[in-house]
Amino acid sequence: MARLSCFGGVSAYISGNFQQYVPRAARDTWLWPGDENMTDIAPATDLDRTVGFTLPERHARGRIVRLGPVLNQILSAHNYPDPIERLLSEALTLTALLGSTLKQEGGQMTLQAQTKGGIVSLLVCDYRNGELRGYVQFDAERLAQLGKNPSVYALFNKGYLAITFDQEATKERYQGIVPLDGDTIAQAAENYFFQSEQIPSLVRIGLGRDADGQRIAGGIFLQHLPEGEVGRERLHARLDHPEWEHVAALASTMGADELADVALPLETLVWRLFNEESEVRVLPGVALSRGCRCDGEYIRQVLAKFPEADRATMADENGVISVDCAFCSRQYPVPAADFVSPPL
Ligand SMILES: [Zn+2]
Repeated sequence: MARLSCFGGVSAYISGNFQQYVPRAARDTWLWPGDENMTDIAPATDLDRTVGFTLPERHARGRIVRLGPVLNQILSAHNYPDPIERLLSEALTLTALLGSTLKQEGGQMTLQAQTKGGIVSLLVCDYRNGELRGYVQFDAERLAQLGKNPSVYALFNKGYLAITFDQEATKERYQGIVPLDGDTIAQAAENYFFQSEQIPSLVRIGLGRDADGQRIAGGIFLQHLPEGEVGRERLHARLDHPEWEHVAALASTMGADELADVALPLETLVWRLFNEESEVRVLPGVALSRGCRCDGEYIRQVLAKFPEADRATMADENGVISVDCAFCSRQYPVPAADFVSPPL
């Protein structure tokens, strides 16, 4: 069940993905038109790609990613202040790292962080077939009172982090929810994997900008699966396992500046970290893109379920209900009169 946020004064709980749509009323100063015509940034460097790798002798596996134009396209649909852009950049980097571990076509990974009473009330990112999208709901006035680099705790207060994997082929869903602990999204993710899945994990995320001032985000994700264990029922996860201590120490040397350096190919970074290991297997890369799956027909179907009087309160003075996609800011104006039954 997803909460539909303050729909023209009507709060409702609707299952499915309708939470991505938000009403566009005069007071909603946090919605901006999308910029579908954003000029493409020529990718002359190693960007918008994720690469997997394994260290068979150490029973470790990992992913590395770098986002550039895709990240800027997603951010350009909004007009977020700097701390929110950085939060969403980190969350999208994590989403790319985790989502690209999905083995089946059509599977989806969703990262959702939410809280009651925090400055950030909701952060949602998802990944499907290499497509990324995300948005943040926050209180701009309270955010402005924080310093330049607020921690995750300062933004969310007591929040929760939910990570959901939906497998398309088998229709299986796995979801874990943990308290949103740590100073950064990366630390929260490490806590998530240790608490929810008993898998020692390391996540490092680095943010930077290219020569043109465009945002760049890079990340690395490393996990220890001793003796080939892959299940989620393990009871003896050890952060002090010698294999894990070794590879985690190596991966910890990766700097934020290297992760976000567009001139460094991802494979080079993997090699820098692990070139003294007896074997490093690098898997084929996955290209990433910005994608949204908002659907005007679905919006109409949901609006049709509201009582007519409620739809009347949602409509503006011209009788149009304006609904925006929270992910991409695309606007869907729907005339309220469309739903009125013709007189008999
Ligand atoms: Zn959309």
